[in-house]
Amino acid sequence: MLLTLTTTHRPATDLGHLLVKHPGRTHAFDLPAGTAHVFYPQAEDARCTAALLLEVDPTKLAAARGRGRGRQSTTAPADFTLGRYVNDRPYAASSLLASALSRVYRSALRGDSRERPELAATPIPLEVRVPVLRCRGGAEVATRLFTPLGWRVTATPIALDEGYPQWGESPYLDLTLTGTLRVAEALHHLYVMLPVLDDAKHYWVTPDEVDKLLRVGAGWLADHPERALIVRRYLAHRRALAAHALERLAAQCPTDEPGTEEETTDQPTPRASLAAQRREAVHAALVEAGAQRVLDLGCGSGALLATLIGDRRFTEIVGTDVSTRALDLAARRLRLDRLPERQRNRVTLHQSALTYRDERLRGYDAAVLMEVVEHLDPPRLPALEDTVFGHARPTTVVVTTPNVEYNVRYEGLSPGAFRHGDHRFEWTRAEFAGWVDRVCTTYGYSAVVRGIGDADPGLGAPTQLAVFTFSRRGDG
Ligand code: SAH
Repeated sequence: MLLTLTTTHRPATDLGHLLVKHPGRTHAFDLPAGTAHVFYPQAEDARCTAALLLEVDPTKLAAARGRGRGRQSTTAPADFTLGRYVNDRPYAASSLLASALSRVYRSALRGDSRERPELAATPIPLEVRVPVLRCRGGAEVATRLFTPLGWRVTATPIALDEGYPQWGESPYLDLTLTGTLRVAEALHHLYVMLPVLDDAKHYWVTPDEVDKLLRVGAGWLADHPERALIVRRYLAHRRALAAHALERLAAQCPTDEPGTEEETTDQPTPRASLAAQRREAVHAALVEAGAQRVLDLGCGSGALLATLIGDRRFTEIVGTDVSTRALDLAARRLRLDRLPERQRNRVTLHQSALTYRDERLRGYDAAVLMEVVEHLDPPRLPALEDTVFGHARPTTVVVTTPNVEYNVRYEGLSPGAFRHGDHRFEWTRAEFAGWVDRVCTTYGYSAVVRGIGDADPGLGAPTQLAVFTFSRRGDG
């Protein structure tokens, strides 16, 4: 199994620093399923390629599989089935290659680089090639999975036998991805997608796989149009785990309901997701406040904007976000370019960082911060408070944020873990109430706090909501 990663970002040999593998040497790693080798077929200033070659040992693999399922590892003839030893696993990229990737490129996957930290954080031109990839659903599925992540996809089906085209195509692809991304992002995408495309995980899927998926998927999976397919396949079609993962993705971020691909009809109609309940609660709070000109600050991919556009009461709707990718997604979701002009004129998207005062945010009836405050490092929160409550100072501010006490109800979320990889904190009800009080005193607002979602008698509701109303000039 082979996977190569190439960059043309000069000096391209810096790829060695990012992967922590010196281009002048070969590197070997002993893994449960065989041996992984990293070497550089090309290492020049203009272009550098790192190759990861996984040599699978079918005997080791069969033994590892036996252990993985809690059976005794054995090679006794009674347990011998030829398929366990003779199969395509040594040759076709799969979850084995994904495991090797995570072992061999561990710090690159975390986005760490001692030698080149800035480069690790910078999108650079990359080309990934997997010459033999088993892909259920063929080139079309590979394209649907990688394109929304910013990759250009070339997927060529491999003929069963080039000498006999009449035999048709094999289930294998030769896959090339090109794009400008951070190396860590590229590795995250591959780590998740290789087993998803193969759709035959080599190990037993346990509930902690949900945490792993959400961790590696942070920042891209919740928004992915095929997240339902990705989650189901990644979790080896274990329904309860997949449903749980999708619920957590919907809770952390914010977009529309999970996709319907591969959805079977025997499932009960799901309740409105927590994300949908949150949008409803925020919408209701804005209506109750009588707001017409509204700001959605940290609007993400625009799920709330879509709701607000559907309600004529709102005459002016502004979405802001620090992320241009989020704003691009929002523009696409709202089909701004196709809205009739009268509708189009109601909506504006701005790039804006909430930690800096922005004149364009002044003079609105209401501002929403839906699932945003917990994305800021605590020392930066006062700057956000100044921007929103001190400077923009709309009459109404609606804030939602997770209730950390409720997290114990999320089966599969490790104790102490947050709901989203990018959350910098999550507040208890008392902590949120304390923050709300302090903001009210400093900036002259009064507020009511309530919960969103099904409340647990001891733990409260999964989401907390505060509606602030400006009442007087504060001390801030
Ligand atoms: N409000 C949206 C998205 C929530 S995710 C929803 O609930 O659907 C948090 C969003 O906050 C992300 O889109 C992120 O880019 C944005 N964000 C994080 N820090 C920010 C900052 N300092 N300024 C503006 N937006 C920020």
